Amino acid sequence: MPSQAPFDHPAIRDQFPALKQTLGDHPLCYLDTAATSQKPQAVIDAMNEYYQLNNANVHRAAHQLSARATSQYEAVRQQVGHFINAAKPQEIIFTHGTTESINMVAYGLTAQLQANDIILIDTAAHHANIVPWQELAKRTGAIIKPIPLTANAQLDLSAYEQLLQSKPKLVALCHVSNALGTVNPINDLIAKAKNAGALTLVDGAQAIAHLDIDVQHIDCDFYVFSGHKMYGPTGIGILYGRFEQLDALTPMLTGGEMIKTVSFDRTEYGELPNRLEAGTPAIAEVIGLGAAITFLQGLPRQDIAAHEQQLMGYLQQQLLSLGDITLYGIADNPLQNNIGSVAFNVANEHHQDVGILLDQQAVAVRCGHHCAMPLMSELNLAGCCRASIGIYTNKQDIDQFIHALNTVKELLL
Ligand code: PLP
Repeated sequence: MPSQAPFDHPAIRDQFPALKQTLGDHPLCYLDTAATSQKPQAVIDAMNEYYQLNNANVHRAAHQLSARATSQYEAVRQQVGHFINAAKPQEIIFTHGTTESINMVAYGLTAQLQANDIILIDTAAHHANIVPWQELAKRTGAIIKPIPLTANAQLDLSAYEQLLQSKPKLVALCHVSNALGTVNPINDLIAKAKNAGALTLVDGAQAIAHLDIDVQHIDCDFYVFSGHKMYGPTGIGILYGRFEQLDALTPMLTGGEMIKTVSFDRTEYGELPNRLEAGTPAIAEVIGLGAAITFLQGLPRQDIAAHEQQLMGYLQQQLLSLGDITLYGIADNPLQNNIGSVAFNVANEHHQDVGILLDQQAVAVRCGHHCAMPLMSELNLAGCCRASIGIYTNKQDIDQFIHALNTVKELLL
C-alpha cells in the first residue's frame, strides 16, 4: 500500500484537471459526483500509458506485451481484493459497472430460486437494484417485497425485522442511497438477514468513495460498485462475492475466456474468476481503476472523511438558512446520517428549472428522479435536485452553489 501523505486539500483538488476550467464567467462548481466523479491525473495517465506502451489482450498470448497487460490486470484484482478486504482475489469479478454486477447475480441465481420465494428490496434502491430482481422474479415466480421507509426516509428497522420473519431467500440493500445520501446500518441489517437465512447483496455504488469497506466485516454474500464513482474510469465495475456463492452462480455471459474445454458435445466452464468474465475485458479501465485505488490509498482517509462530513454539515446548514428550501431524507442527526448527497427542492418550483438556472451559473447538480422512482413516489415527489460532493469539493464550491441558488430563488420566487 502506498504511504499516506499528510492532508493537503488544495493539493488533492489540484490533481483533478477538469475542475480547473471556467464555464462562461464562473469557475466550474461540480456538485454531481454521485452521478460520476471527476478523475485525477494519475488515472488518466495510467490509461494513456496502457494504450501507448502495453496495449495487448490479456491471458491469451505468449508475447511480452500481453504478459505485461495480464500482470497489470491481475495486479488490480489483488489490489481491489485488499481494498475491500476480500478473502481471496478470485472473489473479485471485473464487470462493466454496478448495473452489470447486479444483473449477473440476479441472472446467476435463477436456478436457486423457486416460485413464492421472497426477495426483499430497499424502497430507496436505485433502479439497478430493483429491475434485475423483477426480472428474476418473472423467471422464477419469486415475490418482491419492498422494505418500507420511516417518515424521514430512513429504512424502517422494525418493518424490516417483521419482513425477515417471512424467511426471504434474498435481501438486496443499498449501502448509501444515491438520491438522498441516507446511510443504512449495513452490518446490523446484514446480520439480521443472515440470521433469517437469506442471501445478501449490498449495492455499494455510493459508499465506496466515502467509506472504508470491509466485505468480511459486513459479512454480505455480494457487494457491488462502479469504478467511475470512485475517481476511476467508466466501463469498469466490481462484483465481489463470497467464493462459494460466486461459484454457484450460473454465468450470465458465456464464450471465450470463461471456459476450460469446448467441444460441440459439451462445454466445461473454467474456474473463478474467469468463469464469470467472458470475452475481452475492459483492460484499460481495470488499470485506471487500479490507479484510482492507489490514489485513494495514498490519502489520509480519516482526514478526507472528516473533511467530507464537515462539508456536508455546512452544505445542509447553508441550504436551510437560505429559506424556501425543502431537504429530503435528513435524519435527526444529519451529520451521522447523510453521506455524499443532499436532495432538495426550491419551494414549489420544478427541479429541472432550478437545475438549468444553476447550470447557467456553472453549478452542476442533478435533477430528476435519480433512478429511484419508487422512492420518489414514496416521498410524493415528481423529482428533486441533488447536490453531491467528492474528495475534491471545497467550501468555495458550496459558497458558489448557495450564491447561485439564491439567484435562482430571486428569479423564480
Ligand atoms: N446503484 C446506485 C446506488 C447508484 O448510485 C448507481 C449509479 O448512479 C447505480 C447503482 C448504477 O451504477 P452504474 O450506472 O455505474 O452501473
